[in-house]
Amino acid sequence: IALANAGVQKLQPYQPGKPIEELERELGITDIVKLASNESPLGPSPRAMSAVRSVLEDIHRYPDGSGFRLKAALAERLGVRAAQITLGNGSNDVLELIARAWLKPGDEAVFSEHAFAVYPLVTLACSARPVAVPAREYGHDLDAMLDAIGERTRIVFVANPNNPTGTWISSSTLDHFLARVPKDVLVVLDEAYFEYVEESAYPDGMTRLAAHPNLVVTRTFSKIYGLSGLRMGYGVSSVDIADVLNRVRQPFNCNSLALAAAEAALDDADYLEYNRNLNTTGLAQVAEGLEQLNLEYIPSVGNFIAFDCGREAMPVYEALLREGVIVRPIAGYGMPNHLRVSIGLPEENERFLEALARVLG
Ligand code: PMP
Repeated sequence: IALANAGVQKLQPYQPGKPIEELERELGITDIVKLASNESPLGPSPRAMSAVRSVLEDIHRYPDGSGFRLKAALAERLGVRAAQITLGNGSNDVLELIARAWLKPGDEAVFSEHAFAVYPLVTLACSARPVAVPAREYGHDLDAMLDAIGERTRIVFVANPNNPTGTWISSSTLDHFLARVPKDVLVVLDEAYFEYVEESAYPDGMTRLAAHPNLVVTRTFSKIYGLSGLRMGYGVSSVDIADVLNRVRQPFNCNSLALAAAEAALDDADYLEYNRNLNTTGLAQVAEGLEQLNLEYIPSVGNFIAFDCGREAMPVYEALLREGVIVRPIAGYGMPNHLRVSIGLPEENERFLEALARVLG
């Protein structure tokens, strides 16, 4: 380890949850409800499943390294050119490509306190310095983030909505920010939960690309499209930025099952709509349940809610686990009294709320 680069030595590994089967064995329960990773409770569109089955015949072949068909479909859907798109093995892969292409030792990347854990991770992996800016009411303080941009800043990460807080930035606030970021600083606008948001003042990052050549918008098939396990995400930017990212990308970073599934999933607009409505109803159900328990929560537009346990959250998390409900402790995000719960099916949300009521007594 002494020989690893200085940033890597400071890295804390991302903490994935235990496999469900392992937990069920440990706890002696068989019907665990997993509301821990902001996954889709419905899974992917049946069209994506059948696309995966047909590609299985061909897995002795390398995938299409250019992702030609998926990029064409995305370009049409998003109103951009295929040459503006970078495909990644999950959007985390795109975040890492950006860091690798832009950051060298001593550079800085700015992001918000309580923002997505992968920003400091990819920054440190390049031996660059993560600069976490204090949040405002759990959300991004974009003015403070502008102030934090210095000579060594190469990247600013903005999550809209943010995970794990579920907070969001309005069109006017985002535009004010984008207009003020120095043009030689890359803005990464992470829209992993874009498709869930129903607020009319919520901005579509894609429509800002033309005016801001230093912008990269990232999205994913892991959330509303229900394809977390296949790993498929993408970035959209200027052609020049996409060209750089495609240079550092591994030739076959996206597998053939994921490419086909994503393309088919994109085509199923009804399924997307159904998922969005299910989530909106579920958000209201969980929010109301938390209110009834007199718990404060952060209003969320994603597929999850962070709530304040009013005490240290870890024992509450562990007690919920014994009830067969997995949620996510977020002490690592500087929120030791909060837990984050993903929105599930109505009956799963109910099981969570009932378990929480029992646990809190
Ligand atoms: N950005 C945010 C804000 C996220 O919450 C996540 C998933 N937890 C990601 C990016 C990465 O998702 P994926 O790599 O599965 O596309």
